[in-house]
Amino acid sequence: MIGLVYALSILAKGIQTPQETVYAGATLIDGRGSVPVTDSVVIVKGRRIVFAGPRNAAVIPGAANVVDLRGKWLIPGLIDMHVHLDEDISPSAFPLFGVTSVRDVGSRLVTIQKLRALAAHGEAMPRIYWMGRNIDEDKPSWWGAVAVKGPEEVPALLEDMDKQGVDGVKLYTDAGPRVSRAVIQDAHKRGWPVTGHLQRTRPGEASELGIDNLEHVFTLFNELGKPAPKSVTGYLRGFVTAASTDLTATSARKLISTLKSHGTAVTPTLSVSLMPVLGERNSAKVYDGWATMPPGWSKFWKSSYWSFISTAGWKSSDYATAQRAYGNYKQMVRLLEAERVPIIAGTDTPAPWVLPGAGLIHELELLVDAGLTPMSAIQAATGRAARVLKREGDVGTIQAGRIADFVILDADPLSDIKSMRRIQDVYVGGVRLDRAGFHTKFESAKEPPPGKP
Ligand SMILES: [Zn+2]
Repeated sequence: MIGLVYALSILAKGIQTPQETVYAGATLIDGRGSVPVTDSVVIVKGRRIVFAGPRNAAVIPGAANVVDLRGKWLIPGLIDMHVHLDEDISPSAFPLFGVTSVRDVGSRLVTIQKLRALAAHGEAMPRIYWMGRNIDEDKPSWWGAVAVKGPEEVPALLEDMDKQGVDGVKLYTDAGPRVSRAVIQDAHKRGWPVTGHLQRTRPGEASELGIDNLEHVFTLFNELGKPAPKSVTGYLRGFVTAASTDLTATSARKLISTLKSHGTAVTPTLSVSLMPVLGERNSAKVYDGWATMPPGWSKFWKSSYWSFISTAGWKSSDYATAQRAYGNYKQMVRLLEAERVPIIAGTDTPAPWVLPGAGLIHELELLVDAGLTPMSAIQAATGRAARVLKREGDVGTIQAGRIADFVILDADPLSDIKSMRRIQDVYVGGVRLDRAGFHTKFESAKEPPPGKP
């Protein structure tokens, strides 16, 4: 990976950005859900966009460098709203697939500092919005979390997180309602968004407490379905509950209307409910001819570290249960979308068989399969995601004033979301990535990731 890092930094420095560059002729999809602008002009000065709109409204500077994008589509750089960088060997792969920003939902400060230092030295790296370590209660329910004894310990914890420079916080499974309330109120005073992967606090309750975002559509089923019998353990438990849930029941309608009235966003992370069940061989088909799974990662994903989301020992009836549950997850996403509950795109990369970058594009395909329009799926990873991050002034849309992170596609993603796979170019802060040089190195990466630190 060191060789790769070095090569990328040379490439990034070798490309000069002129004072003003005009990207002309593409169909512009701005990330806000606006009607696409055919024959658009996007003008970039330094790292920011200074104009975006139809050609006849643009004043094109005489000395500008003009990039002809006729026959192409220009979309905002994508945001993966659910990643874990602590476990990832190659965050540089995100921008390769057009993912120019990520929201890290639970890593250590040391990891974030290391990656930001690499980015400062020119390595291709997504912008990292960091939610600190997950907040639990009593004791951490996994190694990436920190726990408070009760709400009285919340102000000191958030003060500490403030000093570390977090961009928001994430509540974790064992945080109860009193701690959740204290965290949400304190974080909001600091201007931070709050998300949660919740269990002890019910998602509907958290929505009423003002949480901004809920992670994993499967957590919504915890308050709708019957808990699985004690004999069912591990990854299968959630599927058993979801498979038997009736989404036409009053409780489901009530939860959806609560989320709607409070404007609580949901990150379904369909990838992490699907890919570990598909397993290595079927996941490879998802990426066939498009992205390659490096052998080192395959080894890592089969290691015991991932036993908490493993299908080891599953019977064929268990796979059928998971399939029924997945059908209900899709149905829930469709119902939420119909009620305009904001759906946000996130993957849980690097969960087994979810590749950085390519995994998000696949998540958008899954969201479309669940019932979103391609336009809405793109918004889930652009403008809508940026609003949940509270960073809509910087990223997520193609508008004057925003950072010039954008992706050029060879085909229309609105007529077929699979066109998102047809990336011609990725620009980060106005600088074009050399993706051709990157591909080979990425695919030949041999080392397994470090996993648990
Ligand atoms: Zn996660």
